[in-house]
Amino acid sequence: SGKRPPTPQRSPFSSVALPGRGLPTVVVAGRPNVGKSTLFNRLVGRRQAIVSDQPGVTRDRKESEAMLRGRRVRLVDTAGLEESKPETLAGRMTASSTQGVDGADVVLFCIDARSGITPADEHFAQWLRKQDVPVILVANKAEGKVGTEGAYDAFRLGLGTPVAVSAEHGEGLAHLMGEIAEHLPPEAKPSGAVDAGSAEGAPSDEPHQPLAGEGAAHLEDSEAPTEAVIEERPPGPLRLAIVGRPNAGKSTLLNALLGEERMITGPEAGLTRDAISVTLDDPEGPVVIVDTAGMRKRARVHDGLERMSVSASIEAMKMAEVVVLVLDATRGLDEQDLQLARLVEREGRACIIALNKWDAVEDRTLARKRIDMRLETSLAQMKGIPVVTFSALTGAGVGKIIPAARRAAMVWNARVGTGALNRWFEEMLEHHQPPLVDGRRLKLRYMTQVKSRPPTFVLFGTRVDQLPDSYRRYLVNGLRETFNLPGVPIRLQTRAPK
Ligand code: GDP
Ligand code: GDP
Repeated sequence: SGKRPPTPQRSPFSSVALPGRGLPTVVVAGRPNVGKSTLFNRLVGRRQAIVSDQPGVTRDRKESEAMLRGRRVRLVDTAGLEESKPETLAGRMTASSTQGVDGADVVLFCIDARSGITPADEHFAQWLRKQDVPVILVANKAEGKVGTEGAYDAFRLGLGTPVAVSAEHGEGLAHLMGEIAEHLPPEAKPSGAVDAGSAEGAPSDEPHQPLAGEGAAHLEDSEAPTEAVIEERPPGPLRLAIVGRPNAGKSTLLNALLGEERMITGPEAGLTRDAISVTLDDPEGPVVIVDTAGMRKRARVHDGLERMSVSASIEAMKMAEVVVLVLDATRGLDEQDLQLARLVEREGRACIIALNKWDAVEDRTLARKRIDMRLETSLAQMKGIPVVTFSALTGAGVGKIIPAARRAAMVWNARVGTGALNRWFEEMLEHHQPPLVDGRRLKLRYMTQVKSRPPTFVLFGTRVDQLPDSYRRYLVNGLRETFNLPGVPIRLQTRAPK
């Protein structure tokens, strides 16, 4: 095992007290020169660590306290540790990571989206996957087009969806902070704060740890965001899946979207079937489309059947931020379409309805009315879902699809400020008292948004696990209307003291 570099006699941050014990530890790791120190400085909020162009410039291990979404954490920069074991690159990586990752609550594994994935990254990723610590894959230097494509490449490290940031330009940091906050261990309970009891949510949801400021004291916190809704998409291509039943017009739509510039970039990492993804060079930024039509066509060759592949659709949804559900307007909305829409809801993706073959519809007003009614009655959990009418065949209206998908992605990423959320919450409670359960009124205390993608809220209170569905719907619909969150699933979890 390698020796640590000499420990500094005093903190490099003379103005800061040495990081306190007992705080959750977030470690910034990765090979030299990916931008760990730059990211560290961004997260700490000062420019104190030395940043250098030269790979592996010897630096001391740096630590500092940082406030991430109202929660104090101990942030550790491992830059410089790689010097401690000079034999092989792999050896150095392991030495630095073992030392750095030791005792971490969350590891930010950084890669350089500009230079792409290197063998050293792969080696480190492989090692990290075996460690018992949550890892957030951070694709740094993701500004601009080269960067966004590189970030996308990081999927193949098998460490989940890369969080694209640009430490130097300050992009994607709010999103990264949100991701970190989600991975922190539960906060030591300040007196009077509620315990993180049973979390209830959709079965596919991971359990969410409570965040900073879940104690009531946080509501008066001056650092609580004042904006009602913060929408920040991380830098990176917009990721779409085009799904729909056979013959809805998915292939025709894809070709219309791509025009002559078709660029096949698959096979796609992370999909078990050899799905194909294509990149669309949109003026507003690249769009990656996972092509299930391609998968379907291949399936048809194999078994001679024309059928909807639900598993292929689910795989495509998992890769996407926004699902474009293509419907055949001449046939209306049927059970197969609704089945797909419910899958989108279950997977927690944003959705837009792409109503195709509009050229072939005779009474457009009637057709639209029918679809809207059907959506209203059968898909209440995705209220306000955007509907775009177009003709893939003639090309009319195709240009509305990407902008609608971009708007949906913003909503999917939305974060509601704690202050605004609780002001709204009080009003909701005043307007309609929480219901009686077994003759006793439920005590609902406060709400916090624990994550976005999709927007996920936790409601705290006494016996909140007995919250009736009607009141849950009242709150979810209220969230949707007040904070303008149409067409995305909204998760509402409840936590009660034991
Ligand atoms: P470390 O060795 O991993 O700590 O990397 P540094 O933080 O010292 O950064 C290495 C180099 O990458 C420096 O020249 C930084 O200016 C540069 N860098 C860091 N972040 C970014 C970024 O987001 N975009 C670009 N283009 N360069 C960056
Ligand atoms: P997929 O199975 O969803 O990929 O559907 P295809 O793209 O293969 O289209 C199925 C059929 O619908 C084909 O015969 C297309 O020509 C037709 N089609 C697709 N888009 C339109 C459209 O906008 N208007 C009309 N009238 N027909 C269309």
